[in-house]
Amino acid sequence: MKILVLNSGSSSVKYQLIDMDNESVLAKGVVERIGITDSVLEHEPADREAIVIKEDIPDHAAAIKMVIEALLNEEHGVLNDIDEINAVGHRVVHGGEKFASSILIDKEVIKEIEDVSDLAPLHNPHNLTGIRVCNDLLEDKPQVAVFDTAFHQTMPNRAFMYALPYEYYERYGIRRYGFHGTSHKYVAQRTSALMDRPLEDLKIITCHLGNGASITAIDGGKSIDTSMGLTPLEGLMMGTRCGDIDPAIIPFVMEKEGLTMAEMDSIMNKKSGLLGVSGISSDSRDVEAAAGEDNKRAEIALEMFDYRVAKYVGAYVAAMGGVDAIVFTAGIGENQKRTRADVINNLKFLNIKLNKEANNSRGKEILISTEDSSVKVFVIPTNEELMIARDTQEIVSAL
Ligand code: AMP
Repeated sequence: MKILVLNSGSSSVKYQLIDMDNESVLAKGVVERIGITDSVLEHEPADREAIVIKEDIPDHAAAIKMVIEALLNEEHGVLNDIDEINAVGHRVVHGGEKFASSILIDKEVIKEIEDVSDLAPLHNPHNLTGIRVCNDLLEDKPQVAVFDTAFHQTMPNRAFMYALPYEYYERYGIRRYGFHGTSHKYVAQRTSALMDRPLEDLKIITCHLGNGASITAIDGGKSIDTSMGLTPLEGLMMGTRCGDIDPAIIPFVMEKEGLTMAEMDSIMNKKSGLLGVSGISSDSRDVEAAAGEDNKRAEIALEMFDYRVAKYVGAYVAAMGGVDAIVFTAGIGENQKRTRADVINNLKFLNIKLNKEANNSRGKEILISTEDSSVKVFVIPTNEELMIARDTQEIVSAL
C-alpha cells in the first residue's frame, strides 16, 4: 500500500509518499511560498537527485496538483499511475475533545474539524484546505485525519483543567489539549522497542525540542500530562514563543506599550523565546554560536531554555511517581548536545547519569545514559510522517 502524507500549512505543503510494504519513503518534498511571490517546489525522489521547480503557485490546489505531477513525472517521478496512491493521510493540528484517535475523513468529520478551528485558527483552516483539495483531485481515495492533539486526550481532569471559572471549559472548551502528539507517541513506541519492554510497563518523559517544543509524561503508553496547552504557546521556551509566563504580564505590557491584543499575541508567539531573549535568532545554532563569542544575552537564552526543560522533567517525574526513560527528539533534542547535558546533569540527584561520549552523537537513535544510570536516556529522531502513514494504513485496511 502506498500512502501520500500531507502537512498543509498557511503557505506551504510538505509531503511524503511512503510504501507501507517496507515503510520506505519513495519521495518527499515541500511546496513553499504558496500564494506569494517566488513559490517553489522541492522534490526529492529516494533514489535520484532532488529537483527544484520555481513557478507561480497561486493556491493550495495548484500546489497539490504540482506534487502529484512531480510524483508522476517521467524523469523524477516515482509512480506510473495516480491509482498507485492508495490513500492520503493528513496532519490536522487540532481535534479538540472530539477526536482521541485518527479517523477516516467524511463530510461530518470535515464539519467537526471546522467546528474546532477557532482553537487553532493558524493551522486547522489550512489543514482543511489540503483535505478539500485532495477530495477534488483524488476523490476516490480514502483520506485519513491524524491529529496532533489526539494522543493527549488520555490526560486526567487534574492535568487538563485550568483554574479558571469552570463555565469557560463548558462554554468554550478552554482546557489543555497539548500538541506534537504524533511525535511523542512515536518516540515512546520506539523507546519501548529499544528497551524491549512493553509500553504498558513504562514511565517515559518525551522531550520534543524543535522550533516548537513540548514535553509529555507518558505512563503505561498514555499521555498523562503535557506542557503545551489550549494552544502551542504554553510550556517550554521555544524558538520564538515565550512559553509559561505570569498571565498578569499581558495586560501590564499592553498598557505600558500601548499594544492591541493582536500585537501582544504576535509578540508572545513570534518575537519571544530564544529570539526575544537573545536578540540574535530563533535558531539554537545561531544562539549557540553567539554565546560562544561571549554574547551575554545569547548565553542567558540557552541557559533559560535548558533550565526550563529540566524543571518540566522534574515535574513529570513527580507527576508519574517515577521515570524509566527520558527521550530527546526534534531539531534541538536530536542535535543539541549542550541542552541534553544540561538537562541530565540537573537530574544527577536521581542517579540519572549521562554518557558524555554517546551524547556527542547527532541525529541518530542512541542510548546516551551510562550503564549504571537509574534511568535510560535516549535520543530518538522523530518520524511523524511514518506515524500518519501507519494510522492511515490501519484505518484504510479495515474498510
Ligand atoms: P524542528 O522544529 O524539529 O525542525 O527543529 C528546528 C530547530 O532545531 C532549529 O530551529 C534549531 O534551533 C534546531 N537545530 C536543528 N539542527 C541543529 C543542530 N545541528 N544543532 C543545534 N540545533 C539544531
